[in-house]
Amino acid sequence: MLIHVRYILIYMKPGTYCESCLMPFKNDTGVRTSDKYCSLCYTDGKFCYEGNLKDFQKICYENMVKSGMNKVQAWIFAFMIRFAPRWKNMGSAQTPQTDKQPTIEIKSTE
Ligand SMILES: [Zn+2]
Repeated sequence: MLIHVRYILIYMKPGTYCESCLMPFKNDTGVRTSDKYCSLCYTDGKFCYEGNLKDFQKICYENMVKSGMNKVQAWIFAFMIRFAPRWKNMGSAQTPQTDKQPTIEIKSTE
């Protein structure tokens, strides 16, 4: 899965898609004010959404499903947002580690 995503991104030409949500500019129906970001992500000189990646992915997923996209496809696109230039430079420090390591309990059966 991850390999396929990277493979796709290599073939995406820089400057042809939004660096925040990865939407190709040719799909952008709004008026774009930045050469890096689409009209949905960036308007009036600032980002429309300033929160964290996880919430941003959720918003994008919901919007894509609302616009009639297949749920699996929408999930894949939302997943890929983590590779967008805007987010991949943020570093793992911004993403709190929530998944705990499973603890193995050894019970003696006497
Ligand atoms: Zn965008």
